[in-house]
Amino acid sequence: MQNYQFHGPRTVGEALNILSERGDGCRIIAGGTDLIPALRNEDILPDSVLNILEIDELTGISEEGDTIRIGPTTTFTEIIQSQVIKRSLPLLVEAASSVGGPTIRNRGTIGGNICNGSPAADVLPAVVALDGELELQSKALGTRIIPAAEAVEAPYQTRFNRDELLTGILIKKLPSETRYAFEKLASRNAMARAYMNISIVLKLDEKGAFSDLRIVPGTLEAVARRMSAAEKILMGRQPEDSLVEEAADAFVGDLAGVWIPDYKLPVARSVFKRVLKRALNGSGVE
Ligand SMILES: Cc1cc2nc3c(=O)[nH]c(=O)nc-3n(C[C@H](O)[C@H](O)[C@H](O)COP(=O)(O)OP(=O)(O)OC[C@H]3O[C@@H](n4cnc5c(N)ncnc54)[C@H](O)[C@@H]3O)c2cc1C
Repeated sequence: MQNYQFHGPRTVGEALNILSERGDGCRIIAGGTDLIPALRNEDILPDSVLNILEIDELTGISEEGDTIRIGPTTTFTEIIQSQVIKRSLPLLVEAASSVGGPTIRNRGTIGGNICNGSPAADVLPAVVALDGELELQSKALGTRIIPAAEAVEAPYQTRFNRDELLTGILIKKLPSETRYAFEKLASRNAMARAYMNISIVLKLDEKGAFSDLRIVPGTLEAVARRMSAAEKILMGRQPEDSLVEEAADAFVGDLAGVWIPDYKLPVARSVFKRVLKRALNGSGVE
């Protein structure tokens, strides 16, 4: 195992100075549940490591008008236990509850899940389905906000600059009566990574037609994105059986031949229909 210089800043400003000075050789560490195995296996060889867990500004959940701000070092357990998230973003509670076992949920952070850029991440696709935005800070560019959907370029590769720190996850509270569902398919082992997960957020108008719909699978693609073909078929129309079948065909058509082997497509199709049904039958956000 390599030797690293270890930085433990107490403020975002100090962290940004270090990132700006150390450049490519410095890696940020939060809970370490992804980074420590990568360091141990020498998959990455930084010359220094910057611990952000001691920076108070980076943790916690707050309400800013109609937006919820989640600090990147907020753990999955904290998200699951938050009354604010339970009330306004219950999809995130479901996604966070599906991560690993209790030890990983106590240690792993939402920021780490996003910044690691794993195709098998469970919380990143839910943040994309919630139209989340990411606040990034660096000395060079100051503060910029990007959609979570644009965060990951390729597996394990974000679009962030090396000197940028994720400082906040910003998600608008779901309007009342918005329905949602999340489902993860994995082996029975609690620590297992997902075979697939699907996050759905939807709203029906007074005639029972889709007025909002966001479908985001995880693990089924290299990078989590909305399934626009299926969304287009359903938007503005009522969820009749034949239309749901058409949307399910479009859902797997969008996935076919890209990232997952063809034999998984029928499973993806039936999980999609099940999650959509659960969202339609579930109660809406109050
Ligand atoms: C046994 C086990 C089971 C797991 N099960 C699951 C699972 O079921 N579902 C799932 O989604 N994941 C799972 N994971 C993966 C992992 O726990 C999560 O991805 C977790 O959210 C990572 O958070 P962390 O704080 O530990 O990140 P770290 O390991 O500290 O960091 C991960 C990456 O993000 C970067 N980073 C972290 N914070 C920031 C920031 N604020 N700004 C910029 N870059 C940053 C780091 O440099 C690193 O590249 C599992 C891991 C283990 C070991």
